[in-house]
Amino acid sequence: MGQALTRSEFPKSVKREAFERAGGKCEECTRFLTPGKFQYDHVLADGLGGKPTLENCRVLCDWCHGLKSANDDVPKMAKADRGRAKIMEGKKSKRPVPGSRGTKFRKRMDGTVERR
Ligand SMILES: [Zn+2]
Repeated sequence: MGQALTRSEFPKSVKREAFERAGGKCEECTRFLTPGKFQYDHVLADGLGGKPTLENCRVLCDWCHGLKSANDDVPKMAKADRGRAKIMEGKKSKRPVPGSRGTKFRKRMDGTVERR
């Protein structure tokens, strides 16, 4: 997955202040943060006009950050559910291929299409 690229990255000073404000804990689930396993998250996405300020910065553990980025509808449950959510996403994006059994129409060799 890697770190999400943001158009307005938080300055170092904001990150430092946000980390101090969080007290070394995730500001979502309040679990203690592991060095290198947390993210500085935009409360209001920068794409929506969110600014790289302390007010718009939230310190999230990778787990909460991943949840937020992946899908806000995914229930915050066990870590195992993350894998399941990914599989469901994959299924959702799979569309029937034209001419295959997934569609009502069949494409003939000469290019015309007929109903099954
Ligand atoms: Zn968290």
